[in-house]
Amino acid sequence: MCIFCKIVDGEIPSYKVYEDSDVLAFLDISQVTKGHTLVIPKKHYENFIDVEPETLQKVMAVAQDLAKDYMDKLSCTGMNILSNVNEVAGQSVFHFHVHLIPRYAENDDVV
Ligand code: 5GP
Ligand code: ZN
Repeated sequence: MCIFCKIVDGEIPSYKVYEDSDVLAFLDISQVTKGHTLVIPKKHYENFIDVEPETLQKVMAVAQDLAKDYMDKLSCTGMNILSNVNEVAGQSVFHFHVHLIPRYAENDDVV
């Protein structure tokens, strides 16, 4: 079973910020910036190309809600919203996920 499937199943602990029957969002273990979050479908799909469109819509709707919430509550001034496809593009976990990386005006070198 993949590492994110284990997180969905609770076999690996995570700091959850949102959960419903299809979608889970949790903090990235390696925070690029404060609030760095991963939004995933509970069902396993390899990446953005592989995921069913209906599931993609659900994941993106949650990502948008969280992005709005973070802009209000984390006092970030921008955000990177991205998904890596395949190793050559930096994908390291092969369970589709969207990164939300809040950006702050000060002391935040974009990486
Ligand atoms: P990718 O490189 O595939 O786009 O992103 C995978 C992300 O998953 C990385 O940012 C990495 O820090 C995060 N990650 C890997 N293993 C775990 C884990 O066990 N728990 C959490 N919360 N994040 C993880
Ligand atoms: Zn998986």
